[in-house]
Amino acid sequence: MAHTHGHSHAAGKNYGKSFALGIGLNVTFIAVEIVYGLIANSSALLADAGHNASDVLGLVFAWTAMWLASMKPRGKYTYGLRKTTILVSILNALLLFGAVAVIAWDAIGKFKNPEPVAGSQVMIVAAIGVVINTLTALLFMKGQKDDLNIKGAFLHMAADAGVSLGVVLAGLLINLTGKQWIDPVTSFLIIAVIVWGTWRLFTDSIDLALDAAPKHIELDKVRNFLLSQNGVENIHDLHVWAMSTTQIALTAHLIMPEGFSDEFIAELQEKLVHEFGIGHTTFQIENKQIEKYCDTDC
Ligand SMILES: [Zn+2]
Ligand SMILES: [Zn+2]
Ligand SMILES: [Zn+2]
Repeated sequence: MAHTHGHSHAAGKNYGKSFALGIGLNVTFIAVEIVYGLIANSSALLADAGHNASDVLGLVFAWTAMWLASMKPRGKYTYGLRKTTILVSILNALLLFGAVAVIAWDAIGKFKNPEPVAGSQVMIVAAIGVVINTLTALLFMKGQKDDLNIKGAFLHMAADAGVSLGVVLAGLLINLTGKQWIDPVTSFLIIAVIVWGTWRLFTDSIDLALDAAPKHIELDKVRNFLLSQNGVENIHDLHVWAMSTTQIALTAHLIMPEGFSDEFIAELQEKLVHEFGIGHTTFQIENKQIEKYCDTDC
């Protein structure tokens, strides 16, 4: 076990409780929405129940990915299954785009055929939705800066709280003014907010899938940092990418004509963890550049 560098530096947080609570709260709320949707004869509540069901699916996906990411590498999966967290981020974004399309379809329908809003029962149930979605969002608030999946779950629940609040306010305004168009206009405002948030999550996930260096890593700084190390004359073939939504890997060739020591490598690994949060590093030391041909822009 001569291999003690910081593989698990940023990992190891457990959101199991958050996911279980989030899923439990939402399943309960879906039941309430279906019952009251039928009692109040409100298609809006039933549609929202469908939307929340896709949310529960999203949470189950994200939870599963977290669990997969924590599993030890095995067999041909030498990196483990961490990268499933990135796949799930993309899947989550696509689910949200689908939900947005359903809401938009509903809103366009209401523009064409304005229906009287189902009244106080709808407002009360929507108000419960505000509370439940806010509670669920708060469960994921802390982790949203470190992990794309948690950020996805947080954004989603926050957007849903906004959706429910919009339904309550629109219902109130329509009751006060009698103007039916307020309802679909509110829907479109909410859709704009959701698309804005989801688009960023989506492009972030695509970047990860394409092995782009994570946004917060400044490649020039990393390059200069490596060049500034004692005995390093030059570097090439530098790669930095995300192995999961929380773990970053780096490979580089270092030209060190004077040779190197184990202490040098150990120290370098330690520094990269603490300066840049890069936990998995691989270096190839060369006396002089040995490659004649290279397909990765050495
Ligand atoms: Zn949702
Ligand atoms: Zn090389
Ligand atoms: Zn290693």
